Amino acid sequence: MKFKTLKFADDEVKNLKKANRFITPRILNSAQEPVAIIDRKKVVNLTSNNYLAMANNPKVKKASIEAIKKYGAGTAAVRTIIGTMSIHAELEKKFAAFKQAEAAILFQSGFTSNTALCQSLMTSPEDLLVSDELNHASIIDGGRLSKAAKRIYKHRDMNSLKEILESKEARKARRCMIVTDGVFSMDGDIAPLDEIEKLAHKYGAFVMVDDAHASGVIGKQGKGTVDHFNLHGKIEIQIGTLSKAFAAVGGYAATTKNLRDYLGSVARPFLFSSSQPPSVAATCLAVLDILKHDPKILKKLWSNTKFFKEELTKAGFDIGNSETPIVPIMVGDTQKAIKFSQMLFKEGVFALSIGFPTVPKGKERLRAIVTAGHTIKDLEFAIKKFIKVGKKLNIV
Ligand SMILES: *Cc1c(COP(=O)(O)O)cnc(C)c1O
Repeated sequence: MKFKTLKFADDEVKNLKKANRFITPRILNSAQEPVAIIDRKKVVNLTSNNYLAMANNPKVKKASIEAIKKYGAGTAAVRTIIGTMSIHAELEKKFAAFKQAEAAILFQSGFTSNTALCQSLMTSPEDLLVSDELNHASIIDGGRLSKAAKRIYKHRDMNSLKEILESKEARKARRCMIVTDGVFSMDGDIAPLDEIEKLAHKYGAFVMVDDAHASGVIGKQGKGTVDHFNLHGKIEIQIGTLSKAFAAVGGYAATTKNLRDYLGSVARPFLFSSSQPPSVAATCLAVLDILKHDPKILKKLWSNTKFFKEELTKAGFDIGNSETPIVPIMVGDTQKAIKFSQMLFKEGVFALSIGFPTVPKGKERLRAIVTAGHTIKDLEFAIKKFIKVGKKLNIV
């Protein structure tokens, strides 16, 4: 099909290819398993966010199927029309309890949760949104949709944050919201939420933490960053995703009852985009139940993480400042990172290469994510291949 009017798209594709920024996703031909069939090849899968190995868990699948039988396949409405099913209300209650907050509100994704919150809470040029420089794209877009002024602090740098909070602009602001990822998605490091909380409340700001990579991963029962730092009752807003450890799709904000109800009346994704299929809510209810009653899974996630990171470090790889199952393996060059990933794939291991502009120049890397589903044998196999290819490419 040819449209003269879309000639610009041909040029854009060419430019992306020239800049190594054209993306061709690999295709999963099996369930999202620790050893999966990807592009028709059986590989150790170190790429998904399936932290707790719930994506293909029999109990979770059964709950999801039961919900389809009871409530049907879809909701065919937004929440405020007739898309609120009892199972959505139940899940909101359970997520509030999980996060030890008064209430929670579901959104269609982690992405729209962030845009919804930023846009609904930061509504005037007199508001100030203060954000870590490595925050997720959805927080950046949320800032763009908000009417607030924006200030960016250096990654996890509390002096940089303090400087902003002490500025005249911050002191004059009508509302000041500090936003941070709980666990940063490219480096696997944890935000110093205890220090952020102290500074915020000293200067009259409130805090929103995005726990996409922290829920189901850090804290007791995987409750997230607030639990990790024992800050229950001190952080105003906790964002979570249903799309990573919870193996479904969606997001939520856990907060006070009034803020929840305010969002339920004004947040644009809540008002204008339909609610999740009931099977999604059932999936998350099942995962919450497993997290509560089976501590072994979280333990396995962390013992696997420890093993994998120790072995890579022993072999001489630079794995940055990771404190979580997200393991960056530094390469320092986009072409080389792509090559590393491709050669590993041929050897039966999939870890994604991440280049500029997703990460700064010089910080190009592979990113591996360990899950509770990997066996030590899977990880040993992967490490052997990392070393083999790493030597060939002079990385170790
Ligand atoms: C993945 C991610 C999101 C987006 O979540 P989805 O549910 O996939 O839309 C938001 N914030 C952070 C920090 C993430 O890593």
